[in-house]
Amino acid sequence: MKTIRTGDQNLVKQLNKSIVFNFIEHKGPVSRAQISKDTGLNKATVSTMASELINDSFIYEIGEGQSSGGRKPVMLYFNNHAGYSIGIDLGVNYILGVLSDLRGNIIEEETRSLNDSKLDNVIGHLTAVIESLVKKAPVSPYGVIGIGIGVPGNVDKDDKILFAPNLNWKQVDLKQIIENRFHIPTKIDNEANAGAHGERLYGAGKNIANLIYVSIGIGIGTGIIINNNLYTGSSGISGELGHVTIEASGRKCPCGNRGCWELYASEKALLTAAEEQHLLEKDHAEGLDCLIKEAQMGNPGVLQQLNRLGEYIGIGLVNIVNTFNPEVVVIGNRIARFKHWIINPITHILEERLSPYHKSNTEIRFSELGKHSIAIGAASFSISKFLEDKRVSVQ
Ligand SMILES: [Zn+2]
Repeated sequence: MKTIRTGDQNLVKQLNKSIVFNFIEHKGPVSRAQISKDTGLNKATVSTMASELINDSFIYEIGEGQSSGGRKPVMLYFNNHAGYSIGIDLGVNYILGVLSDLRGNIIEEETRSLNDSKLDNVIGHLTAVIESLVKKAPVSPYGVIGIGIGVPGNVDKDDKILFAPNLNWKQVDLKQIIENRFHIPTKIDNEANAGAHGERLYGAGKNIANLIYVSIGIGIGTGIIINNNLYTGSSGISGELGHVTIEASGRKCPCGNRGCWELYASEKALLTAAEEQHLLEKDHAEGLDCLIKEAQMGNPGVLQQLNRLGEYIGIGLVNIVNTFNPEVVVIGNRIARFKHWIINPITHILEERLSPYHKSNTEIRFSELGKHSIAIGAASFSISKFLEDKRVSVQ
């Protein structure tokens, strides 16, 4: 007979606990009997693990007695208020912060505009937003479990910001600055990676294993999810698809290349084209709002520009679909506000240029988390880590 060592027994116990926790998190509310039936664990084991999880505050139960006909079983619920996570979308001219529960529901929200992207100024506003969200967090067993910040730039595997061109930042260790100030684990990532993670957990990409999130704002960035995992490349800076060439001898890009996708298909491209066509005053403070209004009123010049923008977005998407064969492409960030006017030209280009196989296997969706996509995504990094740390798994 094989002797089970203490270590093994501990591992078995941790595994069983993880199975029960997973089941309640994803299928709850559920009774102990149902967990036993569906997982194959015996009832005594389920009861012991459930008691431990209740003591840990990860789950709670709601008692019997609501039914007139027979006794209703006690149901177990995942405790999404066991702790809270802070997520920040650090934009070029704004900071959007959210406090979320462990299911990605927004509990509090705070926005500030930035008129100066100098590091000291941004850090001042950023810490003020985080401080305010920490104060607003309800009392909970685990408190604020983490802070996530999505930034418009390249972030390496150690969370250091290598280069954020639109903020004009180089080599900034933002993680260290925030952790020194708040003593809460902090994760910094590229905004498109944050958006991809958020949409996959809570938005338009739920349960999708192979997904590309295309963040179209001032520039274009992409978050790549392959087999349920974020693909970050060898040093953390993959996904610069805004700089794939779509016009061989096109305009010169600050990145060094020519004819980059983001020069033709981004918010900046739209605003520049609208200014050139005299559809918009130069440096209009509310340029996008103004174009939306004009499009709603049927301004033919604006509609033409949006049609062109949609076609250019479509051309870049053809490259993405041919490269990654994703199940879903999610278009997010501010350009998603133009969904009604760009979806047809995008679809038209994909129909025209993709092979039949790719066409039938890829779906284009727009962000469901809308303007919160990056902030919720940033918050979701800490939530995933917090919950994963409580589990063991055998691959
Ligand atoms: Zn470029």
